[in-house]
This record gives sequence, C-alpha cells and structure tokens, in this order.
Amino acid sequence: MHGAHLRSIFRRIGPALETILPGSCALCHGDSQNALCIACHLQFFANTPMRCKICGRKIPHMHAKVCGTCLRTPPAFDATIVACDYAAPSDLLVQDLKFRSRLPLAKSFGQMLAIAITQQPTNTPEVIIPVPLSEARLAQRGFNQAGEIARSLSRHIGIPLQFNVCVRVRDTQPQAGLPLSERRVNMRGAFAVQLNASVRGQHVLLVDDVMTTGHTLNELATCLKRHGARRVTNAVFARTPEK
Ligand SMILES: [Zn+2]
Ligand SMILES: [Zn+2]
Repeated sequence: MHGAHLRSIFRRIGPALETILPGSCALCHGDSQNALCIACHLQFFANTPMRCKICGRKIPHMHAKVCGTCLRTPPAFDATIVACDYAAPSDLLVQDLKFRSRLPLAKSFGQMLAIAITQQPTNTPEVIIPVPLSEARLAQRGFNQAGEIARSLSRHIGIPLQFNVCVRVRDTQPQAGLPLSERRVNMRGAFAVQLNASVRGQHVLLVDDVMTTGHTLNELATCLKRHGARRVTNAVFARTPEK
C-alpha cells in the first residue's frame, strides 16, 4: 500500500481511536486524559539540564553555552532543542510509539517540545519539517513518528507544518544498527528537497524523535541550507547522552 495512502488512513482513524480507548498513563497506568499523567510528567521530565545550544549535548553548569565538539567542527544546523535524555523511561516511551503504534504519545512528546521551545530564547522558526522516513519504512510502520510529533508541536506553537518538502531518496540502514564511525557515511546523500520555495530564506524547525550522533539531522540541515534555508533548528524529543 502506498505510504501517502496509509498516512491519510492514520490521520483519519488516529484521533477516533484515542477517544474510544480508555485513557491511562503509559508509565504508571493510572487514569490520565493524556498519554502521560501529570505526576509522571513531573517525576521524569521536569528536570532540564544545561545543554550545548547547538547540538543539545549536556554540558557542565558553569561551562560555556557551546560544547567543544561544536566549537571545533560546527554542524550544519544552528541550534538543538531537547525535551529529555534518551534514557529510562523515555526510551521505552519512544519504543512504544514507534514499534507498538502508541500514537497518543506523539501528542505528549510534541507538547513537551513546545514547552522546551517556549522556555528558550530563540528566534522563532517559520516552518516545521519532520525528518522523513523512506517510503518502504513508512509503509511498514504505517506512520512517521517524527511527523506525528511535529503535528502536535505545530498545533501547540502555531507554526505551519510541511510534510512533503524533504524526502528520503536513499533507504539507508537504520542508524541504530551501525557502529558510530559508519553513521556519517551511511547518511550521505540520503535526503532531497523537493519544494525549494518552502525553505528558501526560512528558519526551519526540524523535528525528530531521537537524536544520537546527529548525523541524520546534520545531513538534512546540509541539504536544507543548500536549498537556501536561512537557519535550521532541531527539535528532538530525546537526546542520547554523551554521543
Ligand atoms: Zn503516570
Ligand atoms: Zn555541541
């Protein structure tokens, strides 16, 4: 089945399913209107450590605002906003969203990112673009988790979402299965921009669920800048610590 068709089916039935299923928190299983209850939210996600403003790595409190790696080799993106570390329990939540299609979690992730964005003094992005999946991966999973998070984020911060600006032109191996040293090469030439007018002169907010080495986002930011994007900010739900 074509990815776009599947996507449109999910778009229609996703919200309906949410209203039928009884609400319970994904972590404590207590009653909750949202995918996460307020108590779990406060317990696991209220802590906001100091991070490098370019790549989102955690840095010691009294340190400069940019990490040594970004100073030595500045990436193609300009800033990264992170909701939490990719560590228990957020790693389980991401897996629940991706592999068990727990779509209401994407709404919570988007909401958490919206809070993180409004807490940081940053010049406002003009367009939101989710990191695209390949057509094959999209057909297999039925939805793009980054797209679902981006949809929620767009609603919360009132910035338009563009789904079809970027495409994955090469079906790369999953980054998670590769040694760190091979991940940059694996992503090379993976993306293309098919709607130039949507990014030219714009500040783009790139949305993804997890950022590990940053090679995927760097490749996409390189591609967007080549097509005239003025600034690229990443918004990632979870950042793998110390990579
Ligand atoms: Zn809970
Ligand atoms: Zn950095």
